[in-house]
Amino acid sequence: MTHFTKILLITGLTLLSHLATGTIAAADDMEQWPIGVIARFDDHGTGLPFDKAMEIGVSVIQLKVPVVENRTEENAQFILETLKKNGVTLTCVVSGFAGESYATIPIVRETVGLVPEKTRRERFEDFKSVSDFAKRLEAPSVQFHLGFVPEDTESQDYRDVVQITRDACDHVFENGQWLNLETGQETGPALLQFIRDVNRLNLHVNFDPANMILYGCGEPNEALQIVGPFVRSTHCKDARWSKNPGQEWGEEVLFGTGDVNAGLFLKTLREVGYDGPLIIERENKESPAKQYEEIRKTIEYLKQLRARILDKQQPGV
Ligand code: MG
Repeated sequence: MTHFTKILLITGLTLLSHLATGTIAAADDMEQWPIGVIARFDDHGTGLPFDKAMEIGVSVIQLKVPVVENRTEENAQFILETLKKNGVTLTCVVSGFAGESYATIPIVRETVGLVPEKTRRERFEDFKSVSDFAKRLEAPSVQFHLGFVPEDTESQDYRDVVQITRDACDHVFENGQWLNLETGQETGPALLQFIRDVNRLNLHVNFDPANMILYGCGEPNEALQIVGPFVRSTHCKDARWSKNPGQEWGEEVLFGTGDVNAGLFLKTLREVGYDGPLIIERENKESPAKQYEEIRKTIEYLKQLRARILDKQQPGV
């Protein structure tokens, strides 16, 4: 396939994604920014079980990928049919890798994503299977934490991470998808530089403002302005800064109650021309009931905030 043909196809994908966004919007009560959640069909991961996501009343989801033994053709058919039956738009399949740990920031550095060299090739094979499974679900994109990109852009390590990301983009491209990098482990300028170095048109960003704070990577709304043109998806999640940003975790809190400044966040999304979904990410491994209740509250909060930000007659936040 020639480079030019690839550009044409990517343009087509972009148009399709906008069309898909329009379809999502029709299912919500607003034309812009449909509110969704991360959902799952098996017992793995921290999203809402799919039936709970339906109960809570969303029509757009990101799907936490089933574990490898559940990525069967039969399961793919079941999930696809269930999504269609419920009128749900799947915007993205979220990947993750066996052996990852988010216990501390240094442990994330050692264990998360495609960056750790020891597990890179093996995980890349797993990533390809996620993308292939996502294709069967007709998902337009896949997403993951790449890991801590090496800071020295002249180093061989950096070049290797750029290359594996190109390989990932090229694989998902063959499946008609784009790749979302979830933000957190890099500053805005470093992420922008990395995206430019990878130089693939189907590389985009899932912007998670809380992660910027949790990892101590800079003020999220400033970073959003920097990488805004690449943002195709977002997590509505909030956090408070730690006393030692970058060394110790910040604290995750309910969206709208932390240092993200939720109003400014939505306002900035609007300024950068964002037109994708608002995906609520809220984990609570100990209490599924509390997780459900917090997500339900956040949906109500987001609806009001969204209406205020999108309504030009109202004063800004
Ligand atoms: Mg996130």
